[in-house]
Amino acid sequence: MSVREEQQKYIHLMQQYTEGKRLKYHIVTYGCQMNVHDSEKLAGMLQEMGYEEAQELEDADLILFNTCCVRQHAEERVYGNVGALRSYKQSNPNLIIGVCGCMMQQQEAADDIIKKFPFLDLVFGTHNLHHFPKLLYEAINSGHMVVEILDEEGKVVEGLPARRASNVSAYVTIMYGCNNFCTYCIVPYVRGRERSRLPEDILDEIRGLAANGCKEVTLLGQNVNSYGKDLNKGYLFTALLRDVNKIENIERIRFVTSHPKDLSDELIEAMAECEKVCEHIHLPLQAGSNEVLRKMNRRYTREDYLRLVDRLRARIPDIAISTDIIVGFPGETEEDFRDTLDMVERVQYDSAFTFIYSPRKGTPAARMPDELDIEVKKERLNRLIALQNDISKARNQLYMDKVVEVLVEGVSKNNPKMLSGRTRTNKLVHFEGGSELTGEFVKVKITLPKAFTLEGHMI
Ligand code: SF4
Repeated sequence: MSVREEQQKYIHLMQQYTEGKRLKYHIVTYGCQMNVHDSEKLAGMLQEMGYEEAQELEDADLILFNTCCVRQHAEERVYGNVGALRSYKQSNPNLIIGVCGCMMQQQEAADDIIKKFPFLDLVFGTHNLHHFPKLLYEAINSGHMVVEILDEEGKVVEGLPARRASNVSAYVTIMYGCNNFCTYCIVPYVRGRERSRLPEDILDEIRGLAANGCKEVTLLGQNVNSYGKDLNKGYLFTALLRDVNKIENIERIRFVTSHPKDLSDELIEAMAECEKVCEHIHLPLQAGSNEVLRKMNRRYTREDYLRLVDRLRARIPDIAISTDIIVGFPGETEEDFRDTLDMVERVQYDSAFTFIYSPRKGTPAARMPDELDIEVKKERLNRLIALQNDISKARNQLYMDKVVEVLVEGVSKNNPKMLSGRTRTNKLVHFEGGSELTGEFVKVKITLPKAFTLEGHMI
């Protein structure tokens, strides 16, 4: 039986179980876009099984925590939030609670969760996502905790249903895993080595999305720039971008994440030539000091990185650049940190995700000497954030009085009278308008650039 056939069998059994019960699910997602999209797949399977979405956790008959192991903070929140459900389970023994995601792909973390929270019904890893209907069926029918953690790399399983958060803008996974082994990162150990989806499967999925009204796709992978290398067909990321660019009704293409060492001239050329590829790139710097970059095993220097930025800006003048930066890597000196500040000044990022380094068990960096004092890390982080905020504000000032194309995402979360949407350069724009414009492209004149958002009015 194929994976999809097995899945269909259990979806069918679950449909019989949910029939007439109006059962609801709630998924709590931690971490990156890959996890957000995994949650969309879980939601897609749940909808097929007959569950409806519960907006509030309190209203759910099934609660899933899709965990992330990349940041310590996310792990700590999982413990707190799962623990808080103990009383729910006591007052409603029929409630099903599951924990999944990449934190569960680490045997030690999974064992710990199982031991601490014996009231859980279901524990499974990222590689077991496609078995979810079967695992849920077993959890409901066995009455005891069902655990499945495969330590082999996940297969690329096609045809999983997904319930996407938006009809207009969709995430499309193009590859799984990562081969890079940056010394601080747990991803290659828990998500496995790079496995690319076949181009025809990706293109079919995007054609299907376009036929259902999707206008924007974000191609997802830990390192999209090395897409296709494992397929040995000579069909690489640039070829994929060019083919997605040809799909009718898709009007914007984005992609994350790009590793600087794999950002080739051909890719920059394809970005410039494909009119649907947005003028934005997320290019993680991580550190500005060559010594720290070497210890991180990033395999580029600050000079290489600056050359890339020059090439990008020469070919795509209006490109917005965002980044990730880690502060306080083991042994980072004040001088190393100043190199990071210097890079931030030179590159003039539109935005940056900044993090304090925290060791992840099982990674080489966790065994490195010279761990920095938390107060030193915090002080450096604050200096970095202050600098980046000034730069973000200045970059946004450049939009004053400009007219930008915005894809409307919907009513603003903070102000129900405003709509929000994004420019091609990935700037969040707020403006007045009716919710019927959701999913449309509109022209907005910017009248109030702020540090993190732009405000304006439709013209
Ligand atoms: S490129 Fe480095 S940081 Fe990114 S997922 Fe791979 S190992 Fe982790």
